[in-house]
Amino acid sequence: MAVIELKNIVKQYGDGYPAVNDVSLEIADGEFMILVGPSGCGKSTLLRMIVGLEDITSGDLLIGGERVNDKAPRDRNLAMVFQNYALYPHLTVYENIAFPLRLAKKSDQEVREKVEHAADLLELREHLQRKPSQLSGGQRQRVAMGRAIVRDAEAFLFDEPLSNLDAKLRGQMRTEISRLQRQLDTTTVYVTHDQTEAMTLGDRVAVLRKGVLQQCASPRELYEQP
Ligand code: ADP
Ligand code: ADP
Repeated sequence: MAVIELKNIVKQYGDGYPAVNDVSLEIADGEFMILVGPSGCGKSTLLRMIVGLEDITSGDLLIGGERVNDKAPRDRNLAMVFQNYALYPHLTVYENIAFPLRLAKKSDQEVREKVEHAADLLELREHLQRKPSQLSGGQRQRVAMGRAIVRDAEAFLFDEPLSNLDAKLRGQMRTEISRLQRQLDTTTVYVTHDQTEAMTLGDRVAVLRKGVLQQCASPRELYEQP
């Protein structure tokens, strides 16, 4: 069953051609879907509409079979990991990861169990009492992922999560994200302009150009195309 379903989604900001133009796409349970394309093709806009940070001009967005066009981000049960991490600098790693659970008024015990579980998965156990400023870029990225993991979200959404990292770290994080996604088996939508990321991480790759979905296929199918 499709966890996320886009039906003829359009986003028109002003005049001119739409930023997202009649995109239809079904993202299956557990699937790792990549949205790829050059700068300005509409990737971020599409992701932001899915998470609810941007209004949809027309079309239908379904999550778990339910139309969510008019639902607030907090009612969509999705977890977004941003390019700039969006960590709270004054909070420890532990409290950064715990943040969504605190908002949801979970018990201290549940918070501890979930944060420690996420920290184990992400190899952050020794860093829980640090502040984000005391971490490397890769570690900060992991904290941002930890915050997504503890939410038990329907899906993870990533907006160019590795673009601020150097090439070596990017390679490491790519491996790590791939491992995590297989381990957690969570539906994932991942925006990138990086072909290598797209081809190594994705179960399927949706190629956007000027707001239009050009094709959507597995990396192998894309690779073998004439
Ligand atoms: P990408 O993420 O692929 O770089 P975006 O989704 O950011 O592309 O942008 C798609 C198009 O929409 C671009 O032409 C961009 O200039 C335009 N756009 C994005 N955000 C806004 C906005 N808030 N207001 C007006 N135009 C926007
Ligand atoms: P508040 O409304 O208390 O100021 P936020 O604006 O940070 O808090 O978040 C409101 C709600 O939006 C959160 O409870 C959460 O469910 C949702 N939300 C916040 N950040 C994200 C995110 N990165 N991904 C998905 N949902 C989010």
